[in-house]
Amino acid sequence: MDEDIKIKCQDCGEEFVFSAREQKFYNEKGFVPPKRCKSCRNARTLRRNKINY
Ligand SMILES: [Zn+2]
Repeated sequence: MDEDIKIKCQDCGEEFVFSAREQKFYNEKGFVPPKRCKSCRNARTLRRNKINY
């Protein structure tokens, strides 16, 4: 696993790069690969924060 892969974002349908370095990081942390691009993830995080406060 040392190649960048492309994942289609579940929210906006755009393809985004899941880099080899990120894959390694996610693997080490035991995270599942992201399903959304960075901007959609940021948007979701912001929305969640707004609900909390
Ligand atoms: Zn997206």
